[in-house]
Amino acid sequence: MRLSVAAFLLSALTAAPNLHAQADIANFCSKLPRPAYGALEKRAESNEWFEVYTVANGVTAIYEPFQWQEVISYLIEGEDRALLFDTGNGIEDIKAVVDRLTDKPVTVINSHSHYDHVGGNHQFGRILSVSTDFSHEMEHGLPNAVVREELSQPALCKSPPSGAKLETHVIKPYSITGTLKDGDVIDLGGRTLEILQVPGHTSDAVALLERDTGYLWIGDTYYNGPIWLFAPQTDLEAYRATMKRLVALAPTLTKLFPAHNTPVENPSVLPRVQAAFEKVVTTDLAPDSVEDGMAEFRFDGFSFIMRPDYRAITD
Ligand SMILES: [Zn+2]
Repeated sequence: MRLSVAAFLLSALTAAPNLHAQADIANFCSKLPRPAYGALEKRAESNEWFEVYTVANGVTAIYEPFQWQEVISYLIEGEDRALLFDTGNGIEDIKAVVDRLTDKPVTVINSHSHYDHVGGNHQFGRILSVSTDFSHEMEHGLPNAVVREELSQPALCKSPPSGAKLETHVIKPYSITGTLKDGDVIDLGGRTLEILQVPGHTSDAVALLERDTGYLWIGDTYYNGPIWLFAPQTDLEAYRATMKRLVALAPTLTKLFPAHNTPVENPSVLPRVQAAFEKVVTTDLAPDSVEDGMAEFRFDGFSFIMRPDYRAITD
């Protein structure tokens, strides 16, 4: 996620890094449309705010390109049920889009509970989550002071939908209705998804694995861009263990579906991400830049943004 400055002030009680000045975000509008979308089928269910793409059989990416998170939620349909993996920023009505895409009963699971992924949760009656302090804290939603910047002028490439305003934007409260744990299997009818707990980016991060197809919905553990590893909820040791686990799985995978920027990535990136992360946290590699109080380590196609005072792992 791209945490706002205000969120940091409230949640971390630490000096707020002005990360929105950093390169990838400052000019995000100029990156649109990202070329990767040219190869995908854009669906008629798209509207002024959400772009909807078929990314695999029964898998639809619901993308919010005009807001700096460029967040991607996914609708995964089986024969009997559908699963919505994340609900976006809560700026526009995601349920209306989902209702146009499917009439099957929908269960929501979040890749993690950062606000850019749970914004539409309040619209759904069935929400499954792992049980961590952070996931339960987020059920209360977030006030305008924390998320108003998400509707500020630099955050947007077009006018927000009618009804969405900087002055009134909040993350509405929602209720988790069932608990998940690692290894749980979700049966959608003719397709089953396994829950992998992948702590690191947050304590409550989960990935979805479809063993039959080799698809992995990976959330914010990896995406094509600056990977943010400095939030108060981030645990670098846990991220390291998660990357090891995912790299071991990589030979069985065929597609990664990340939660930001571009919706289909090649799993062959995972060993490169792991190797890069190991280099950052176990050597004295200097960051490529330290800007606004945050260190960025750049690699081919992705980077890590971390607190400059993170502690190196020495085992
Ligand atoms: Zn995110």
